[in-house]
Amino acid sequence: MLPKEPPRRPQLGFLYLPPYRVQGVSIAGEATAVQVPELDIGFDIGECPRAMLTSNTVAISHGHMDHIAALIYYFSQRSFQGMGTGKIVCHPDLAEPIHNLMGALVNIERQRTPYEVVTMNPEDQIPLKGNVVLRAFPTIHTVPSLGYSCVEMRSKLRADLVGTPQEQLMQLKEKGEEITELHEIPQVTYMGDTLWGKHFERPEVLDAKVLITECTFLEPGHRKRAGVGKHLHLDDIIQLLEMFRGEHVVLTHMSRRTNLSVVRTTLDKYVPSDLREKLHVLMDGRTNRARYEAQLAEAEARE
Ligand SMILES: [Zn+2]
Ligand SMILES: [Zn+2]
Repeated sequence: MLPKEPPRRPQLGFLYLPPYRVQGVSIAGEATAVQVPELDIGFDIGECPRAMLTSNTVAISHGHMDHIAALIYYFSQRSFQGMGTGKIVCHPDLAEPIHNLMGALVNIERQRTPYEVVTMNPEDQIPLKGNVVLRAFPTIHTVPSLGYSCVEMRSKLRADLVGTPQEQLMQLKEKGEEITELHEIPQVTYMGDTLWGKHFERPEVLDAKVLITECTFLEPGHRKRAGVGKHLHLDDIIQLLEMFRGEHVVLTHMSRRTNLSVVRTTLDKYVPSDLREKLHVLMDGRTNRARYEAQLAEAEARE
């Protein structure tokens, strides 16, 4: 008998949540790497699929291997393919060990790989793209960890001036008065491994157009296990959905042992139907493909 072919690589998870694509891979303990090309950002780099290389910035949630293993490959491939120096954003506690790792790589490869590490404390923000900034916020895990939000800073007419005639506004402006104010509109928010906590009440989380969050445990009997590993359980997600004011919640970080058809039936069974519509599972290729095909058909019909 001939030996079997090796198992095929699973396709990348893909969701089109206009105007954003959310794509990547996420399996608990194995690898998580999620990318939003429209914002030129990746989150975590447990694996580095080709598509992920194009993100000029990768924000690391925490240092566990399934979230950081492909870091050296990301830097090295970008350099090899002439894509410019990649930039990693991470918790300050990770900076020194990453420098040590890159230093060790010089000795291993006998060549220097260009790289950039930017550290962020909770509440820090850095420019990301256009008028969108990247803001870090604290999450709770077994090691230092951060969540990230891509927040659009939109300048709008001051609320108390709405309805004021144009000439009057011009006069105020000429007098040097600020007639606009900044509005924060969270676009995409990402949380790697985390326990439930106060950070779930943040506007960056509850108002995000697209919220990407882990949900490691689904089974009703697994609540305790979620707590021990400082992970989320589906019960937390239901609580989140009840408060969520944004458009989409994308779940990541499920175990390979969790069968996707069981995921679908579990979500259908436990998540109230009005909340279910907002909920997606990144790695549920079948459901996401059907959804994308419907989007394609709809776009074609419009043309
Ligand atoms: Zn993990
Ligand atoms: Zn972890």
